Amino acid sequence: MPQPLVEITRREVFSAAHRLHDPRLSDEENRRLYGMCNTEHGHNYAFEVTVRGGVSASGMVMDLNQLMLILREEIVSHVDHKHLNRDVAFLREVIPTAENVAVAFWNRIEARLRAFEPCQLHRVRVYESRENFVDYHGQSA
Ligand SMILES: [Zn+2]
Repeated sequence: MPQPLVEITRREVFSAAHRLHDPRLSDEENRRLYGMCNTEHGHNYAFEVTVRGGVSASGMVMDLNQLMLILREEIVSHVDHKHLNRDVAFLREVIPTAENVAVAFWNRIEARLRAFEPCQLHRVRVYESRENFVDYHGQSA
């Protein structure tokens, strides 16, 4: 009998500072492009990681507790109470918009989650505030 396909999600929170600034642009262009976010400020971020897979004989897609441990080890411990522009090695090459943060988080955990095949990383959602969030499914435009 085929296994039902289910998505499971773990949510984590962290607080961090950042500044949206492109060093290739002038200060004036940066202010125009990023507005208030060109100034150093902070967010109470949340992010959700969704893994998709069949429900096995254990009744689970993947142990959510293990997913939590991976997220805390690979992401939260590196970004909580940090400055995303300068303190986080895996964000050093990008402008820390929510989009780039979501892609960096995906790249950070994808290899770890391969150990849990056949379930697959399905979505990384990053909330910069309660109203604004971005989704990444591991695809390129
Ligand atoms: Zn911001």
